[in-house]
Amino acid sequence: MTAGADEMLRAASALSSRLPWPLAVLARLAYNYRWSWLPDGPDVFREVDRDRWAACGRNPVRLLQETSAEALLRAAGNAALVARAEQLERAMLEDLARPAATDVVGEDRPVAFFCAEYGLHDSLPIYAGGLGALAGDIVKEASDLALPFVAVGLMYRHGYFRQRVDHSGWQQEYWVPTDPERSPAVLVTRGEDRAPLRIRVPIDEDDVIAQVWRVDVGRVPLYLLDTDVPENGRVARWITARLYDSDARTRLAQYVLLGGGGAAALRALGIEPGVVHMNEGHAGFAALEMTRAAVEDGLGFDAAAQAVRRRTVFTTHTPVPAGNDTYPSDHVRLALGPLARSLSTDVEQILRLGRTRADDEQEPFGVTQFALRASRAANGVSRRHGDVSREMWRVLWPDRSLDDVPIGHVTNGVHVPSWVGAPMRRLLDRQLGAGWPQRAADPVTFAAIDDIPAQELWDVRCEQRRLLVEYVRDVSQLQRIARGEPRDYVEAAAKAFDPAVLTLGFARRLATYKRLHLLLHDVQRSFALLAGDRPVQLLLAGKAHPRDDDGKRLVQQLFAVRSQQRAFERVVFLEDYNLDVAARLVRGCDVWINLPRPPLEASGTSGMKAAVNGGLQLSVLDGWWAEAYDGANGWALGGEVDRDPGAQDARHAGELLALLETEVVPEFYARDAAGVPQAWIDRIRRSMRTLIPAFSATRMLTEYEDRIYRAG
Ligand SMILES: *Cc1c(COP(=O)(O)O)cnc(C)c1O
Repeated sequence: MTAGADEMLRAASALSSRLPWPLAVLARLAYNYRWSWLPDGPDVFREVDRDRWAACGRNPVRLLQETSAEALLRAAGNAALVARAEQLERAMLEDLARPAATDVVGEDRPVAFFCAEYGLHDSLPIYAGGLGALAGDIVKEASDLALPFVAVGLMYRHGYFRQRVDHSGWQQEYWVPTDPERSPAVLVTRGEDRAPLRIRVPIDEDDVIAQVWRVDVGRVPLYLLDTDVPENGRVARWITARLYDSDARTRLAQYVLLGGGGAAALRALGIEPGVVHMNEGHAGFAALEMTRAAVEDGLGFDAAAQAVRRRTVFTTHTPVPAGNDTYPSDHVRLALGPLARSLSTDVEQILRLGRTRADDEQEPFGVTQFALRASRAANGVSRRHGDVSREMWRVLWPDRSLDDVPIGHVTNGVHVPSWVGAPMRRLLDRQLGAGWPQRAADPVTFAAIDDIPAQELWDVRCEQRRLLVEYVRDVSQLQRIARGEPRDYVEAAAKAFDPAVLTLGFARRLATYKRLHLLLHDVQRSFALLAGDRPVQLLLAGKAHPRDDDGKRLVQQLFAVRSQQRAFERVVFLEDYNLDVAARLVRGCDVWINLPRPPLEASGTSGMKAAVNGGLQLSVLDGWWAEAYDGANGWALGGEVDRDPGAQDARHAGELLALLETEVVPEFYARDAAGVPQAWIDRIRRSMRTLIPAFSATRMLTEYEDRIYRAG
């Protein structure tokens, strides 16, 4: 039994004590996120009390803590609901009871995965964006594949910032505290008196104390360090307050805590990893702490570092030098000084390992360089990103040719059961056989997509679009009224969005390189598309970094055009992009637009989520799309690197509109006698058949197993 499993049982049992006995099963389900990707899981919790479910942010522990006694009694009397919950538990227990299925690591030597953020579900807000969504998908897939796996991260008490847009179109940020006691998390304890486990991490000149939460994700325990304990001073308690805190020293402390504290926590929990996977440079200090432990066991620094390297692997996600975190040497000396002393080396030696040119004392410390040197295998997250990473980091291996730079790639994938919409899931269950998600990496699984009658596929697409439109009408009215918009503009939100209209989606971080501005390049031509007799509607969402005023100005420009033209009623910006909004968008949008400036998109994963649902890509040939596009499974804009970004922007904006006008819109509206767009359906079939197996998390994690985790 892994550390914290007992506490999990006790928490479920404590929660069930306030429930009528037939609902005790719900308390057991609530403490394992496995419910979130069982087809009936979310619906069972929702039906306990619909309003409460929404008010609790779809957090099942809070739901069961806060639902009125009356509503609980009603649910307990609903025999069908109780039977469904029991069926869910049987499915979950069966899943948890399977033996491990791999020869790469032993059950007592799991893969230990370290990441600064995890996007498991919107009820656990410890993620910001793509990196977290990916980490969440990796953890769920590890569970599905029965790969021995533990995950390590931080319990951010205030999470990532939330977004609202004010009356002037300006993004405002705010933070909402989450109470771990009301999450499906338990404190890991130790000893007879069950005192919470305490980890000591030397950071700066202090010992920072961390407690450890456990969250269960199917078969995988996720351990989250938390410094918000009374023994720490205010500054130390703040370390795990905000994800990607704006203060550089706090961020550095977070990464020392994540890597150093995380590795120390695993040891304290009695977990001896077979492979340590550092996901992005933030996690790099895991190697340092493991080296310290090996030194403590009697090895010299170099031998210890070598031994650690043999079981450490690293994934880089950032294709621009500036995107890789660096810290001034002085900060690192302060933060790592005590740790370095216990390593019997001096901190200057560690600083050298984090510099591109080790002897250049002017150069700051880079977490990516450090992680690359600390690991035996490294990879980028798409084929193109592998190329870009080898080019970017070849200076670390000056005597090797470009092709021999030891950075490969494992292209990202998405956890299919988490992202597929219910109507599409039911259709695929019928057509491909109920076990199809277990065979998601096998192209043969999806051959039968060609046999699905066009009408059925189209009905599912229309149903998923309708669900999205209903949601958009509702929340956009609410967001507009809260912003103080004129009443007719508020009411337009309920009418302008149409379940029969071609729906385009563009949702992603509002970083400049994602080029939302291309959509505003030729406003008149865009109006014509929006208002044509074969109209389109456009959904936008995404957060700008709190310090990125350029990104915020873009949103503001968008809001400025809304008042000029009625056609702009067909454009909706949804506030506060998160996993829930993302899931709704990727399920309902007909076309998923991605306009990164090449080669700055490492992979991108939201388009893969759309593909699972029969959404089509219209994207620049960068990141994953550069290897996924086959000429007929979506649409593409050129991916070449252009020295003149302005000219490229203008060209891409023109190509985008031309594609929409001459191909996308006509194909969507070309209907047969039964009202079905046959050519469109053919494209969807091809997209699903080619993209789902190749960009499933099943394929991704199998590759990690075979190419990265398996010792070379
Ligand atoms: C999938 C996802 C992302 C990543 O999308 P990209 O295509 O990489 O931009 C970001 N945020 C959320 C909430 C997601 O679900």
